[in-house]
Amino acid sequence: MNKNILIVPGDGIGQEVTAVGKKVLDRIAEKFGHTFHYDEALIGHVAIEATGSPLPDETLQKMKASDAILFGAVGHPKYDNDPTAKVRPEQGLLKMRKELGLYANLRPIKLFDELLGASSIKPEILRGADILFFRELTGDIYFGEKGRKNDGNTAYDVAEYSRFEVERIARKAFDAARTRRKKLCSVDKANVIETSRLWREVIQKIALEYPDVEVEHQFVDATAMLLIKDPKKFDVVVTANLFGDILTDEASQIAGSMGMLASASIGDGTGVYEPIHGSAHDITGKGVANPLASILSVALLLDISFGLKNEADTVISAVDAVLKAGFRTRDIADASTLSENILGTDAIGQEVLKRI
Ligand code: NAD
Repeated sequence: MNKNILIVPGDGIGQEVTAVGKKVLDRIAEKFGHTFHYDEALIGHVAIEATGSPLPDETLQKMKASDAILFGAVGHPKYDNDPTAKVRPEQGLLKMRKELGLYANLRPIKLFDELLGASSIKPEILRGADILFFRELTGDIYFGEKGRKNDGNTAYDVAEYSRFEVERIARKAFDAARTRRKKLCSVDKANVIETSRLWREVIQKIALEYPDVEVEHQFVDATAMLLIKDPKKFDVVVTANLFGDILTDEASQIAGSMGMLASASIGDGTGVYEPIHGSAHDITGKGVANPLASILSVALLLDISFGLKNEADTVISAVDAVLKAGFRTRDIADASTLSENILGTDAIGQEVLKRI
């Protein structure tokens, strides 16, 4: 297979973990006889510094022309501490999602057995949990009108959803549920919020097309509680942009660490594959960032954008084997981890490469 992959490392540890992800792509190409051509592009703080824009036109053009995108993270403390900054790294991320029509964000939450001890949740609650989140990505309060009035003393953000937007993500989630345990939980706040009432109405209608899938509607507050109390009860979860943003970070604790969670953003055109974590400036440049989420993002890229299931499974098995061998990065180490088995970013990447 001959494919063009755009590498967009972004900021902070995005640079460090994406470099490891790219090596995994190289190793897979070598082992399975594929040809991957790479190009690289700027986004986020590094793009603002170089061009003044968080998503330069050149980056967008390269994104649209590529077959898949391996993405790192955006963000910089400079903006986090300055809410008045007009140009911000996250604007690049939101614009990319809108321009590429990336309306569905998939986040598989599955705990590798070896990491049962790394989560703050009890192992007996966690064992066997396997959730696939579908977070809507191009609507909701993130993209509606926003502003200030009353001399800046009142702020507003408008949440908006169209029937079409809910339908297209619902279909993706129902289709996925069919290939899994055939259970779909739709999360909303239909008791209070109008966009949630439309959301629920649409899900109920689409459900008629999928009589084999068991559908449950749940309020977001209850879901936040049940994810920790009984994560095994969930199979596929579909929800709106803001609720999904919060719930998937919460669910990352089921997988042991933010450093283990990969995601795929898909829609009309090129798919984007990225760890769910941010640029983590507290650990940038220290060589300790966990690259496994980026590596698992590579597995999603191979599977979803290229249909290379066997190659994707090879990557996941290699990660599993590294964990079974006892190797950990600092964020997923626990009291039983031998200190010599706690590896830095590149070293744990090498262990994965060896096992591929
Ligand atoms: P974060 O995900 O960057 O970090 C949260 C905590 O988890 C930190 O303590 C960090 O050290 C740790 N962590 C995250 N990834 C890790 C990894 N791979 N290995 C080991 N430890 C890891 O979130 P934050 O601190 O809230 O935000 C930092 C910056 O990232 C902000 O500027 C924020 O806006 C941005 N951000 C970007 C994205 C994105 O690009 N998709 C997502 C979230 C946050």
